Amino acid sequence: MLDQKLYRRPADTALSVQEENGAVRCLACAQRCLVRPGKRGICRVRYNEDGVLYAPFGYVTGMAPDPVEKKPFYHFLPGSVTLSFGMAGCNFHCPHCQNWQISQIGRTCEPGRMIPVVPEDLVTAARRVGARLVVSTYNEPLITAEWALAIFELARAEGLRCAMVSNGYASRESIARLSPVVDAYKIDLKGFDERHYRQFGGRLQPVLDSIAAWWATGTWVEVVTLVIPGVNDDPGELRALAKFLYSVSPDIPWHVTAFHPAFRMTDTRPTPAATLQTARKIGLEEGLRYVYAGNLPGGVDDAEHTRCPSCGTVVVQRYGFRVLANEIREGRCPKCRNPIAGVWD
Ligand code: SF4
Repeated sequence: MLDQKLYRRPADTALSVQEENGAVRCLACAQRCLVRPGKRGICRVRYNEDGVLYAPFGYVTGMAPDPVEKKPFYHFLPGSVTLSFGMAGCNFHCPHCQNWQISQIGRTCEPGRMIPVVPEDLVTAARRVGARLVVSTYNEPLITAEWALAIFELARAEGLRCAMVSNGYASRESIARLSPVVDAYKIDLKGFDERHYRQFGGRLQPVLDSIAAWWATGTWVEVVTLVIPGVNDDPGELRALAKFLYSVSPDIPWHVTAFHPAFRMTDTRPTPAATLQTARKIGLEEGLRYVYAGNLPGGVDDAEHTRCPSCGTVVVQRYGFRVLANEIREGRCPKCRNPIAGVWD
């Protein structure tokens, strides 16, 4: 059923390596699955047929114009429209997944709607909606890297920027292959406790390594932590996480966002505004220059705005996904001329 519905193409040679007896090591993400003939990887969408590893290609489960703030990117072309697209599958199985109907195919659900498209269709659609960037999102983009590469190479030739919204479970090989065509990369850092990552299907360290490695490539990186009551809202854990981000760069924006009950966590209460306030305060105390509270529009003081870290002037004013005012000029605060980290034009 799954094989019949998924379009495919052989995996990129930089993202796979042949092993003995027809097995192939997949390098597209940090799971580094050894996929034997007739088997599939942890993500369920890359599979070995007769000694060849196949990757999904040529379809979307959805595409839509979204504000860049919805990804969320707050320091990358604020106020821009993106053409966002997604496929299906994931290398994790988080119990709070908001997109589980497309991320968990082959595990808890069957493939749903898959629309055949070619990369040119997406670039044309991006032009039609006035998008400045195309974004691989909705499911985990690392497991469908070949598809993103084909679209991004075309999009960049047309003057568009390219971004990914990812859990950050990247291999060094995927970072090397993708970073030349990825302008911005959003990473979910789901906490700072190995036990949580084991529960979600991964490990913490590869995500930390990936944040540092993506930042070192010069790709613009923003980090999101969905703060879930009773799971990762311990102030000590949040402080350790903020310290780590600071060690990579105090300029990485950190979004602490509110959880809403979903999938297998419908009995967990939503995140109170006070918890986000605490998390944000911790981030600022640890020296991060840009810490935002998300998913509660207008609900956490002025925590959606960007302030100049030098003089405190509000340089970008937001409400939810809307930019109300952008005063940044040539990447600097209009009042004190301090640089504001990000990509502004
Ligand atoms: S993308 Fe990740 S989970 Fe999927 S087969 Fe490759 S290494 Fe395994």
